[in-house]
Amino acid sequence: MSVDDFGKDVHGESDGWAAGGYGFETLAIHAGQDPDPATGAVVVPIYQTSTYVQSEVGQHKGYEYSRSGNPTRTALESCLAALEAGRSGLAFASGLAAEDCVLRTLTAPGAHVVIPDDAYGGTYRLFAGVLAKWGVENTPVALGDVDAVRAAVRPETTLIWCETPTNPLLNIADIEALAAVAHESGARLVVDNTFASPYLQQPLALGADVVVHSTTKYVGGHSDVVGGALVTADPGLGDELAYHQNAMGGVPGAFDAWLVLRGVKTLGVRMDRHCANAQRVVELLQSSDKVAAVYYPGLPEHPGHEIAAKQMRDFGGMVSFRLAGGEAAALEVCRHTRVFTLGESLGGVESLIEHPARMTHASVAGSQLEVPSDLVRLSVGIETAEDLLEDLSAALARV
Ligand SMILES: *Cc1c(COP(=O)(O)O)cnc(C)c1O
Repeated sequence: MSVDDFGKDVHGESDGWAAGGYGFETLAIHAGQDPDPATGAVVVPIYQTSTYVQSEVGQHKGYEYSRSGNPTRTALESCLAALEAGRSGLAFASGLAAEDCVLRTLTAPGAHVVIPDDAYGGTYRLFAGVLAKWGVENTPVALGDVDAVRAAVRPETTLIWCETPTNPLLNIADIEALAAVAHESGARLVVDNTFASPYLQQPLALGADVVVHSTTKYVGGHSDVVGGALVTADPGLGDELAYHQNAMGGVPGAFDAWLVLRGVKTLGVRMDRHCANAQRVVELLQSSDKVAAVYYPGLPEHPGHEIAAKQMRDFGGMVSFRLAGGEAAALEVCRHTRVFTLGESLGGVESLIEHPARMTHASVAGSQLEVPSDLVRLSVGIETAEDLLEDLSAALARV
């Protein structure tokens, strides 16, 4: 990119790197991240500015105002477009801001949407507490049952919302099959790819229309920033989403975009370790008589295992389990870990433990999405595996 081209692509289109046949890790480090055209800086600078000089009225380098476009954000958007094998990437201030943008682009009052019966609690709250008031009806369905999804689709259904693996029960949905059901009736398939990350799963290649991320999680990977993203391969839809991104304004600041971009460079190597550590943790949990059930798509007996093996590179770093001793035992395990930090969120380098019914999923209590009270969710980090196993064993020994 020359200085003259600077800013041509303010909407985060995938760039020449994406078309170059490079591997995932190369794209994570280079796509959208050519050395700075103004200074030669190897790392994309934090363009902490709200506005840009115009040499005369209407003459500028592509950037006019940082809600509409900011070079640090453009770099992140281009990189995410490349990593999801899409064309347009759009970055947001949070995962929910990204969700709000795609939902208000693809629904209107009177529309109907099919949603998972197991999903991130905040996503459900957006459908039930915000979109419903706006006149958009939803039907929660177990997305693993493709016939049930087809039966729930109505003439006014404009989208099917899919999360796979789901938060917190690690259910698996067949993205290719759901894309076919959506497209049969002129609806769109949106996939929340937060749990898998683009390293493990690329929904657009399987027929999804839009991918959503909470970049707060694996993409950022260091629990130091809140962010979201949308990626699509459809140029028309990319333009519509970009219009709404600017019109609604839920954009990230330059520093937040930079933190996510710094994190994403190591996504591949981090995910490999997350997956390997999760596998060890699953083995430990399965061997414990304190544990009543383990939910992990890598287990051959998991009902979604075959589909997960088909559409994912590996099975991820999230593991949930139920305690034989019920809710009291679940709370006790959460109280007694040390390396696993008790806290919400997931996908960072550090291991986290939480109690979904009282923490991340408190907002779905009493709904069809209510989660069992004896459930504990782990975000398995990339610490030394033996330390994680010892920490969990010690906590399980207390119940
Ligand atoms: C955290 C999360 C979100 C919401 O993202 P925020 O960045 O917290 O707004 C959406 N989907 C899933 C699966 C999540 O885990």
